[in-house]
Amino acid sequence: MRRHVDAQLETWASLGVNGHFTDMANSPLAQWQDLAESCARASAAIVGCSAQEVVVMNTLTVNLHLMMASFYRPDARRHKVLLEARPFPSDHYAIESQVRWHGLDPARSMVKLEPAAGSALVPTEQVLRAIDEHADDAALLLLPGIQYYSGQLFDVPAITAHARARGIVVGWDLAHAAGNVELRLHDWGVDFACWCTYKYLNAGPGAIAAAFVHERHGGVEWAVRRDSSSSSSSTPVYRPRLAGWYGGDKSVRFDMDSLFVPTPGAAGFQLSNPSALDLASLAAALSVFAKTSMRDLRSKALVLTAYAEHLLHRILARAPAKGPPLFRLLTPSDPSQRGSQLSILLREGLLEAVAAALEDNGVACDKRKPDVIRIAPVPLYCSFEDVWKFMQIFRGALEL
Ligand SMILES: *Cc1c(COP(=O)(O)O)cnc(C)c1O
Repeated sequence: MRRHVDAQLETWASLGVNGHFTDMANSPLAQWQDLAESCARASAAIVGCSAQEVVVMNTLTVNLHLMMASFYRPDARRHKVLLEARPFPSDHYAIESQVRWHGLDPARSMVKLEPAAGSALVPTEQVLRAIDEHADDAALLLLPGIQYYSGQLFDVPAITAHARARGIVVGWDLAHAAGNVELRLHDWGVDFACWCTYKYLNAGPGAIAAAFVHERHGGVEWAVRRDSSSSSSSTPVYRPRLAGWYGGDKSVRFDMDSLFVPTPGAAGFQLSNPSALDLASLAAALSVFAKTSMRDLRSKALVLTAYAEHLLHRILARAPAKGPPLFRLLTPSDPSQRGSQLSILLREGLLEAVAAALEDNGVACDKRKPDVIRIAPVPLYCSFEDVWKFMQIFRGALEL
């Protein structure tokens, strides 16, 4: 990361604004004009699509809004959004505000999928049933690839195919899935997806985000129009969107013409000149992924997470039998329905003491009030020994 950021500062010091159009010798980075595109190329392998289907821009919530501006186009018949009952709050705010923005009533237009009784999970069959039930009036389905709280990995291909076959547009929030599990967004026919790069992709706090737009939505055609005096002109025809100059075709970007001609593909959804420093840290993070593959990472992750789960079950087996169990796992036990994460629901009242004991022993662990801690042995930088050490500390934190 330091090498990439230093190279960027060096370019800025020596070339100034010309860094936009000049390749620097010995820099691991493309010139600034091409940097977002080179990050998109590196991201494509991670989410399973072509480079033209990825755009690197903004932050996750901003991209959700931009994608909904283009893909959530309610009409008198189709106006509903299918979402989960308790999504990450930002997603809920984004969806609700989009619904209101269209002058619609959230109570009528938001269909919230509740987890099954006594569980944090939303079974696939339940999602498919909800799609059938709202097949005539749903405009959009927007779900997380991996649910941030429970760690549930949704069946993206089955849900996508089912919804699309009923005329519903399908978007996925991949904040916890990108860089965590194998994805094939193109082959699965997903309409759009958004993700941040500061979770499993390690680009740093608040780093620049990305979005996927399926090839079938990125086309730019030219239509010839004849006016009354029978002179003709051509206009670009493309999917409606909120546009900005960086979505414009690179070859004419600096012509400062007011006719917007989008770059074909996802890049045509970009608005602004992105921060070169931000892109440098993403490029550095992606360069680590380029040394391996999602298949290899996933195959280690499956074993690493299973090992963590096994040790958790052993801790439970050794705990005194009286009273309710010290904890239970919210995350599916089926490895094909989860990524690296395991969410541990602690017995009521234990969270603060457990979190303090973990911290005292050098473990920085996520906690979600009232009772959940989430652990994720990430294959890129966690070893089996790390998992074992964590479990010793966790057992101590439970005073066993
Ligand atoms: C992390 C996360 C966000 C955060 O969005 P930003 O706009 O990057 O701050 C939104 N949604 C989900 C599901 C997340 O996991």
